[in-house]
Amino acid sequence: MKSSHSDSAPNWGASRTCVCLVCRSALTEGESCEEHPKGTVQLAIPAHREVLLEHVWGRAKPRQVTQNIAKALCAFAVVGSLVGAWGSLWMIQLGGMGLGLLALPFLMAKDRHATGGRRLLARPQGVFPNGASAAVKQLPARQISGIVQEASQVRAPLRNQLSVAFSIELRHPDALPNPLVYRDARTIGFRLVAGDGTIVEIPAGKVFIDNLGDKIDLHHARQYLTELDPAQRSQGLDPFPFDEAYEAVVAVGDNVAVLSPLKLVALPSANPGDYRETPSAVFVPEGIPRLCVI
Ligand SMILES: [Zn+2]
Repeated sequence: MKSSHSDSAPNWGASRTCVCLVCRSALTEGESCEEHPKGTVQLAIPAHREVLLEHVWGRAKPRQVTQNIAKALCAFAVVGSLVGAWGSLWMIQLGGMGLGLLALPFLMAKDRHATGGRRLLARPQGVFPNGASAAVKQLPARQISGIVQEASQVRAPLRNQLSVAFSIELRHPDALPNPLVYRDARTIGFRLVAGDGTIVEIPAGKVFIDNLGDKIDLHHARQYLTELDPAQRSQGLDPFPFDEAYEAVVAVGDNVAVLSPLKLVALPSANPGDYRETPSAVFVPEGIPRLCVI
């Protein structure tokens, strides 16, 4: 993973061209979801994209099965009617006509959600319950909050606001069982200092921000998504259907609570002659940092 401190200009890291099927977290190529390591799909690969579309919109199979049964019933009805008519067997003729009437509604039924031969779910499927928030289930014994220290900042993808971390959530109010259909959250890495002088270092990379943030104009969100997934415009089905977009940011000077368990890490003394400025140890989150701007 890229470190924000290795480049002169910090950035949000590599493009998130992959996504986790289960929690719909944006991932970079080669990255995997900690919670669902086997659920990563690459948006540029057609077979992967198909798997994602099936997760969101369902498969074509149920419609094919129903229609095949209806076709078989119709065939029996035609044969039964002909045999009945030929042999003046009115019982068989009536039975055949009855079967035909029974099958007709199934045969004529149009799937109102069908697009390109696919049977779609009536409502898109979003993240499974707790899919996006299960990374840290327990709160740490000691919760620390502190002020984000002066650092280089980067413009957040949607609002263009200078920040050290962002979290984007795209939602579809009708999605089941959860309106969340896509999330992307990254930090360039920064330092928090608590009131008692305790220091917490947030490393660059993935992050969870508990705040939902501000509602964003859908146009900005679509533009941002198209940059990460150029096939958005050419496909009939949208793997990330959304009607609402939110972006939360963490900026210099914000008071931020760290909700992840923390561990103390000793720092090598960068400048042996100066013991006043360099801390000997700092806290770092275990796993993906979970933050809340308070
Ligand atoms: Zn996941």
